[in-house]
Amino acid sequence: MRKDEMFDTPKKKVALDVTNLDNFVYDMDHCIKCKGCYWVEHTYMPGVEFSVRCPSNLWNDFDSYGAFGKMRIGLAVNEGKLKWTDKLLEIIYADPLCGACDVGCKRNLDLEIGLSLEALRVKAVKDGAGPMPAHKKIAKNIDAKHNQFGSPHENRKKWITKDVKVAEKADIVYFVGCSASYVNPEIAGATAKVLNASGRKFMLLPDEWCCGNTLYSVGMVDEARELAKRNIEAVRATGAKTLVTSCAEGYRMWKVDYPKLLNISTSELGFNVVHLIEIADEAMKKGDLKLTKPVDVRFTYHDSCGVSRLCDPWTPWSGERGWMGTVSPALKRRRGTTGLYVQSRNILNAIPGAKFVEMPRKRENAFCCGAGRGTKEAFPDLASFSAKHRLDEVKSVSAEVLVSACPWCKSNFSQAVKENGDNVQVMDIAEIISAAVEL
Ligand code: SF4
Ligand code: SF4
Repeated sequence: MRKDEMFDTPKKKVALDVTNLDNFVYDMDHCIKCKGCYWVEHTYMPGVEFSVRCPSNLWNDFDSYGAFGKMRIGLAVNEGKLKWTDKLLEIIYADPLCGACDVGCKRNLDLEIGLSLEALRVKAVKDGAGPMPAHKKIAKNIDAKHNQFGSPHENRKKWITKDVKVAEKADIVYFVGCSASYVNPEIAGATAKVLNASGRKFMLLPDEWCCGNTLYSVGMVDEARELAKRNIEAVRATGAKTLVTSCAEGYRMWKVDYPKLLNISTSELGFNVVHLIEIADEAMKKGDLKLTKPVDVRFTYHDSCGVSRLCDPWTPWSGERGWMGTVSPALKRRRGTTGLYVQSRNILNAIPGAKFVEMPRKRENAFCCGAGRGTKEAFPDLASFSAKHRLDEVKSVSAEVLVSACPWCKSNFSQAVKENGDNVQVMDIAEIISAAVEL
């Protein structure tokens, strides 16, 4: 190519906007099928037993279930060469959108694999094919009862026990989320106790509604956007400076996907979004939270996707793509580097009496539990398979307790432990901190 031709290459307008699959044609088209989205880089791996990063493709060996397969499917769908069928819908929805492929791919290439997968689901919904029936039921529940499960809305605060102090007004608002409100109230209780023990006054939203994580994740962006607007306004109205979650999925939704849906930066929300892990770590460093009670167990930690590789803050970007795929203005890629890896380990290493052991796949290379983003509801077999595979890794390091930072992980792992008859206890990080605090 001559130099003048090089600079004459027509430029294409693009944006990081998942509502138009066309934005990701370059990304989907430039997948080189290297399978960096399937394997954990060998430099991180002590062996082959736990060297896969993609639950979807491990569950079903056909290439179409891997990110590299879905990139080709996305291209064909975008060009109208592939029509939606039940099988095609299964392939794109039997996937926890865990982001492992995205960070794996970005070690070598600047391709937006995770966003392409999200945009493909938005297209499925727009075309009237998606989401799956189980997701439609969740959407109905949220519409009618403001929670995923269709439980009575008035029961949302039933988790509050007498020993928990909730302020009328505070700088921190605790967004409990559907799972901890209805299914895992012990996580909400432990979170409140840790906040109380840290001396961090917190309030609750006067009328908390579902965060809409499943709606966004399955491609129902219009419905998710309405919830985002309503919920952000509700927090702004309280005057709180910080919103804390105990749910990794909710954390990702508030911090990344609300701004994405509203085309604003995370910093423009008007309040900080943090996970309990960040508050506890900071409180420990300041000497406000003391872990003094021995917890005599050998435990390991599962980096829930929403507090690890999926939580880099969001900044809107639009611009042009030109010669050799270069983009302008410069685009700072989200590579999963700002996950709460260090904070969680600071806490876990400080639990007195306990022995913390790492699993081979950790931090941004952790293997997803398989439950999130609408997967367990539509594909329980995949969720169970993923959790059992991860439990094999837990057992490989002889851990008695598996700690995670999300109620969805806890529920999924607990069910898999039961089905397997494993001798592993599953706990949330809020519970293990709470167990180590003298209350
Ligand atoms: S790592 Fe990226 S380029 Fe390689 S096969 Fe996967 S999606 Fe394609
Ligand atoms: S998001 Fe996770 S499950 Fe889905 S293709 Fe990527 S690595 Fe596989």
